[in-house]
Amino acid sequence: MLVKCPTCGKQKEYEGNPFRPFCSERCKLIDLGAWVDEEYKIASEEESISEANTDNSRILEETGDE
Ligand SMILES: [Zn+2]
Repeated sequence: MLVKCPTCGKQKEYEGNPFRPFCSERCKLIDLGAWVDEEYKIASEEESISEANTDNSRILEETGDE
């Protein structure tokens, strides 16, 4: 039975394939990497929000000095 690889779309024999439903280890890692990348993007977005808050309080402090 042939299955379509979710990463590259190549048809690959399902039986005897240790990386199924992917065609190869490379495609399996690419798919896992895509998930990790997505989580990383969400995490860095939260980080930039708190960074902006820090910048605001620093500006207020500088104004109070004068
Ligand atoms: Zn593939």
